[in-house]
Amino acid sequence: MTQYREDPRDVYRTVGVRPGIHAGGTTTLFGGTKLRPEASDAMAKAASVMVDLDELNAAASTILAKVTGSEAALVTSGSSGGLVLQAAACMAGHDPAKMAQLPNASGLKSQFVIQTCHRFPYDQLYTATGGKLVNVGDGRGAKPWQVQAAINEHTAALIYLVSPFTSRRALPLDQMANIAHSNHIPLIVDAASMLPPRANLSKYIPMGADLVQYSGGKGIRGPQGTGILCGRTDLIRAATANASPNQFIGRGMKVAKEEIVGLLKATEVFLDQDEEEENRQYRQMCERVQDALIEIPGTEIRIEHDNYDFLIPTTIIGFTEHWQGPSRDEILYLMLKGETPIYMYQLSALDEIGVDPTNLSEEELGKVISKLRSILLTKND
Ligand SMILES: *Cc1c(COP(=O)(O)O)cnc(C)c1O
Repeated sequence: MTQYREDPRDVYRTVGVRPGIHAGGTTTLFGGTKLRPEASDAMAKAASVMVDLDELNAAASTILAKVTGSEAALVTSGSSGGLVLQAAACMAGHDPAKMAQLPNASGLKSQFVIQTCHRFPYDQLYTATGGKLVNVGDGRGAKPWQVQAAINEHTAALIYLVSPFTSRRALPLDQMANIAHSNHIPLIVDAASMLPPRANLSKYIPMGADLVQYSGGKGIRGPQGTGILCGRTDLIRAATANASPNQFIGRGMKVAKEEIVGLLKATEVFLDQDEEEENRQYRQMCERVQDALIEIPGTEIRIEHDNYDFLIPTTIIGFTEHWQGPSRDEILYLMLKGETPIYMYQLSALDEIGVDPTNLSEEELGKVISKLRSILLTKND
């Protein structure tokens, strides 16, 4: 008898949704990342067994504290859920009366000082607890005295964003930490998308961060809805107290037992992998794209990998003034058409698109390349 192997894409087709290919990195809108099979397996097992969540959270804290080089840790509902818990921890601590009044901030320290150049789309989450953002400096950076002048008896914490494509002239993290600590307030850090490189998992605590947030569903390739919050014992205790399963502001950001187990497994596998080998593979994939497109007139293909904006090798396709084919937006649109939509990496530069290898198998990369070639060559002769 013929053995038909099941096509995983059918689970989407049977509900009428086109399975796609994500050449754009770890964007949540297009599925985030492919869950590691080891994590998926651990999740299926964990889902069928009952446990005490407090015990599981404590065990996860010990394991994640060790790998992040911090005192304690908590599995959060994505980085987004973790940012709300950072704010709750700094405003209410683990005092049940204060925890219960959130998002009513009256009588609580509720101001969060942030460099204007670090304002980002997710910073609303810091205000979900009733917190208020206080901007310092301009779009490029801030001076230490500006940060100091913004601090008063209502200040709950200083916020720091570590992310690709942020201003390189922002006050450095260790300087912000010094200002925070000389005022006896914490520095809370969002480093959601900074993994890999794996070294970043334990980089910011020694620099003075009191809490650091990472996404579990990006480079770690754990469950999409998870994150790692790590840092000082008292602040993690407070974040945990505000979080599900407790009935406080974090209850709406529940993390299930199997998600916690899945993230622990994914993190273990992530850290066991040889990063140099991984980067070599990614670079080879980028070179495949480069080789396949390089002779198309009017394009400029390069491979970026700089540990700042491009944390892994990424192919950038630029269009010069000699480009005569479809516009960038037309190309992006055409890539989405057909049986299998392909999501490309959209850079802020209007004349560039990218291919990020994170979510691509060799076979999928082949499809990305042939579709790109056929679109780029259409009106180009
Ligand atoms: C992705 C991201 C988030 C949101 O993370 P989720 O895990 O998807 O909730 C928050 N902050 C920054 C800087 C990010 O890059």
